[in-house]
Amino acid sequence: MLIIFGLRVIYHTVAQGVFYCRKCGGDRNYRHRAGRRFVTVFFIPLVPLNKTGDHVQCTTCKTRYVADVLNAPTAAKMQAAIPAGVRAMVCLMLTAGGADSPAARRRAIEMVTGAGEQAYDEDKLLADMALPANALMVAIGQFGGQLRPEAKEWHLAEMIRIALADAPRALTPGERATVEAIAGGLGMTKAQALGVIQLTEQAADQS
Ligand SMILES: [Zn+2]
Repeated sequence: MLIIFGLRVIYHTVAQGVFYCRKCGGDRNYRHRAGRRFVTVFFIPLVPLNKTGDHVQCTTCKTRYVADVLNAPTAAKMQAAIPAGVRAMVCLMLTAGGADSPAARRRAIEMVTGAGEQAYDEDKLLADMALPANALMVAIGQFGGQLRPEAKEWHLAEMIRIALADAPRALTPGERATVEAIAGGLGMTKAQALGVIQLTEQAADQS
C-alpha cells in the first residue's frame, strides 16, 4: 500500500484589530495569524511540528506583514497626536508665563483650533493646564516624532510668540527654559532651540 506523506502549514488567528496598512494607505482591520507545520498523511495534518509563519494580514488587500508592523501608529492615532501635541505645548508655555494675559490665552486657543480641534475654548485650556507636566511632555514627544525639522522650528516659533504676546521684547528666564524643554520634547537640539528663540525675538522686536 502506498502512503502519501506531506508537509503543510496550518494557520490560526491569534488577534485582530486595526493597523495602518502601507499598501492600502490607511487604517484597516488586520488578522494576526500564527502558523504551525504539520506532517500530513493522505493530505490530513496529523503530526504537529514547529511554529512558523507568524504574520499580520490586512483583511482588505490581503497583504502580509511581519508582526512588527503593529508597532507603527495608526493614521487615526497620528491624526489625534497633532492637536494633543499643540495643546500640551501651549499649556506648558502659558504655565511658564502669560496665563493671566487674555492676549496670550487667545493666541494659545487659536493655535489649538488651528491644529484641528475646533471646539477648544477657555474651559478646556484650564483643564489642560491642570495636567501634570510629564503627561504633557509625552504628548509633545509623540507629536514631535511625526514632524519634519522645519515643522518643529515653525511650531516652536509659534510657542515663543505666545510668550511674547504679553511682553513683546524678550522671553523671561522661565519662559526660555520652557521653550528649551518643549524643543527637547520635539526632538530638537539646544542649539536649534536657541536659534529659533533668537530669530523669533528679533522679529517680534521689529514688528
Ligand atoms: Zn491593506
